[in-house]
Amino acid sequence: MLVIFLGPPGAGKGTQAQRLVAEKGFMHISTGDLLREAVKNRTPLGLKAKEYMERGELVPDDLIVALIKEKLPKEGNVILDGFPRTIAQAEALDKMLEELGKKVDAVVLFEVPDEVVIERLSGRRIDPKTGKVYHVKYNPPPEGVEVIQREDDKPSVIKKRLEVYRKQTAPLIDYYKEKGNLLVVDATKSPDEVYEDLITKLGLK
Ligand code: ADP
Ligand code: AMP
Repeated sequence: MLVIFLGPPGAGKGTQAQRLVAEKGFMHISTGDLLREAVKNRTPLGLKAKEYMERGELVPDDLIVALIKEKLPKEGNVILDGFPRTIAQAEALDKMLEELGKKVDAVVLFEVPDEVVIERLSGRRIDPKTGKVYHVKYNPPPEGVEVIQREDDKPSVIKKRLEVYRKQTAPLIDYYKEKGNLLVVDATKSPDEVYEDLITKLGLK
């Protein structure tokens, strides 16, 4: 099963993906995580992607499509988180899947207003050792766990990322609506409620 998680930054996609991995054995492919790893390791991709990411802009489509071509598992249950983010990426994915004789089974739209996104991103913290996502208020890290804040979770970059989402990524909502495989979850609810809604709508209960 191939599921795409679509929605603004901070909607809770990564949080829900980590739970589906833990409880339903999904593989989680996050282009954001892959890019941050590439930046950390100063790979050729990381060196090219770094400045776009720091500015809150999208990394060029050709680099992202090449990355997904390399990382997309051929088998198993997969969540694509943060990809596709443009119509061109969605078209490239369709082509890739067609060649593999596969398809997108469901696209989950995480619906959440900007104010919530801003509050979630400003309070987001990451455990760099495990990649686990926390929030200073909604999901504080356990005592003794050292967390960091992402550079692009600073207010000026958050604003830019929301603009980029609206202009370049939101058009994917209609793209997948027309294909008939869009599911919508109310992502303003608690993590447990969102998870229940998600597994119900995906038929995984
Ligand atoms: P995304 O992957 O969509 O960018 P994350 O999963 O990283 O979003 O979540 C953004 C922040 O919001 C994190 O700090 C996370 O702990 C918090 N968060 C996620 N889901 C919820 C929720 N349902 N209610 C409150 N906070 C949440
Ligand atoms: P994320 O972790 O999903 O919030 O992504 C962090 C940053 O990585 C984004 O702001 C972009 O700069 C870059 N990025 C992640 N996924 C993509 C993608 N599919 N297309 C272009 N840029 C991406």
